[in-house]
Amino acid sequence: MDLTPDDAARSVAERTRAFVRGTVLAVERERRGSAHALPEQVRRDLQAAARQAGVFCPHLPPRWGGLGIDRRGQALVFEEAGYSLFGPLALNIAAPDEGNMHLLAAVADPDQQERYLRPLAAGLIRSCFAMTEPAPGAGSDPSALATTARPVSGGWVLNGRKWFTTGADGAAFAIVMARTSGQPGDRGGATMFLVDTDAPGLDLVRTIETLDEAMIGGHGEFVLQDCFVPADRVLGAVDQGFDNAQVRLAPARLTHCMRWLGLARHAQDIALDRAAGRRAFGSALADLGMIQQMLADSEIDIEASRALILRAAWELDSGGRAAQSTSVAKAFVAEAVWRIVDRSLQICGSLGVSGDLMLGRYLREVRPFRIYDGPSETHRWAISRRAVKRRVQERDAAVRGALPA
Ligand SMILES: Cc1cc2nc3c(=O)[nH]c(=O)nc-3n(C[C@H](O)[C@H](O)[C@H](O)COP(=O)(O)OP(=O)(O)OC[C@H]3O[C@@H](n4cnc5c(N)ncnc54)[C@H](O)[C@@H]3O)c2cc1C
Repeated sequence: MDLTPDDAARSVAERTRAFVRGTVLAVERERRGSAHALPEQVRRDLQAAARQAGVFCPHLPPRWGGLGIDRRGQALVFEEAGYSLFGPLALNIAAPDEGNMHLLAAVADPDQQERYLRPLAAGLIRSCFAMTEPAPGAGSDPSALATTARPVSGGWVLNGRKWFTTGADGAAFAIVMARTSGQPGDRGGATMFLVDTDAPGLDLVRTIETLDEAMIGGHGEFVLQDCFVPADRVLGAVDQGFDNAQVRLAPARLTHCMRWLGLARHAQDIALDRAAGRRAFGSALADLGMIQQMLADSEIDIEASRALILRAAWELDSGGRAAQSTSVAKAFVAEAVWRIVDRSLQICGSLGVSGDLMLGRYLREVRPFRIYDGPSETHRWAISRRAVKRRVQERDAAVRGALPA
């Protein structure tokens, strides 16, 4: 396994570090880390500054205006961007646009790429990804998909309800997952559609009030009522939606880990500064054993998270699906970043919960990550099933004499 990012990626990471600390953090502080209703001009200004700093769109190939950095390099750059809640937005690597760009680059046809990917990569528009539905529809179990797409002359008619669609308010288009065959509960039969958000029959009925606020456009709820989608807006093949979702899901959960690790590192830096400067009971906090334990545990969580991210990134760079390694990374990092931010807040005492620091906001931002991109329990369920299957195969091979038991 070669986990070493190349020199070009290192150089972009260094520039990102300087850009985020020198430019982006001030905007984050000014906006109190809230981007649900961020003015479009603020996003554009941040992205113009990122372009100027030579760090815009690091993840896409040069033909889409990107810097062509591989996944191991992205691990470095995204972590530096994630040091601020607004860093990913500035670099155009925020969720859900970054995952959607990857999906469009891999699956869309050339016309769809020109229409949707080109402006998205340039930061001219935003997008969203609508898979999850209110109960009893798709959630942790995507096979519960209940939104339907019925074939009609020239295209499809979609009906259903989607919620928790991140970035919905202000998005130019949505990638909507709908059922084109079978029944809720069936494992196949889904198709992805590119739906312009001004299409008749697609209504954003609300932006859901949530614990987190740092994702631009918030988390929306859509109703699709007899929404016509032309035939040329099918993304990938009909009935291949679940397979295509895999193209997006594994890398997207990993890039979330990279970004949130950056924020956790920022929280740890705040705690380190406080522990070194604040005195209690005749010594610096940093010299008290229980504070040292919290600081050390956070260092361990940071190092372990980074190692798991790089290992999964290497597998993706090597052409693997990385289903297991991204699941392991996601389950660990989502919980580690929560622990790190929570410890940092504790070390800062009353200051930690105050609005004078951003730690309270950071804590609220990292908590939902244990739910989206697969709840921790869903990942553990999948990881344990794969482990049992692997062991059964090993024992079968031993019985055949192919392997030692
Ligand atoms: C902030 C945020 C942003 C989101 N953005 C998007 C988006 O942009 N697009 C989109 O389509 N969706 C989005 N989602 C939805 C997200 O993907 C779902 O919340 C997630 O898939 C879980 O589905 P659910 O909420 O319906 O929970 P449910 O499926 O109802 O699960 C509830 C709980 O059941 C438990 N559980 C689930 N599976 C298992 C298992 N196998 N074993 C044991 N326990 C289990 C877990 O504890 C889980 O939290 C977002 C969610 C949040 C919170």
